[in-house]
Amino acid sequence: MRALYPGTFDPIHNGHIDIATRAAGLFDELVIGIYNSPPKTLTFETAQRIALAEECLAHLPNVRVMSYHGLTVTFAREIGASVLVRGLRAISDFEFEFQMALTNKKLDPGLEVICLMTSLEYAYLSSSILKEVALLGGDIQHLAPPAIRNALHARFAGLRPEAAASVPIRTSRD
Ligand code: ADP
Repeated sequence: MRALYPGTFDPIHNGHIDIATRAAGLFDELVIGIYNSPPKTLTFETAQRIALAEECLAHLPNVRVMSYHGLTVTFAREIGASVLVRGLRAISDFEFEFQMALTNKKLDPGLEVICLMTSLEYAYLSSSILKEVALLGGDIQHLAPPAIRNALHARFAGLRPEAAASVPIRTSRD
């Protein structure tokens, strides 16, 4: 059975990797679907989000990283995925995921949505928080693998903390 774990992954972090690792153990194949043009301001281009996810998940032989645009259900159908995997951190995630799951179910009743609960140590972790800590020079060693730390340092190099407000990293939900 093939499952699709879709998201923005801007960039991928330990919370995502935890969900991907656990989902890879549940399904024959897991495709990480990197959404090309989300309604969010992106920090990393799609090609870089793909490259970083591939590097961080290279140890999982049944995981593939692909990008997509348009409806998630259409992409799932195209790649033959019968399950969508999502992660839940908190009650605040639930409302959005519930709405998305019901919408996707309406669009494609044959596609099941499975939400995995976050592991306790990543319950607070989001790409936005990761980027904010990195931008302000904080230690992100326990939040993301070295490849992500290097990419964030390169991306934010030379930016002063005072410039934080002008860097497009805050999103409505992430
Ligand atoms: P999206 O824009 O689709 O929400 P994200 O990259 O922010 O993309 O998240 C992708 C999925 O991973 C979502 O289902 C989100 O709830 C889940 N997720 C994000 N961070 C964590 C975490 N720390 N623990 C568990 N799941 C997470």
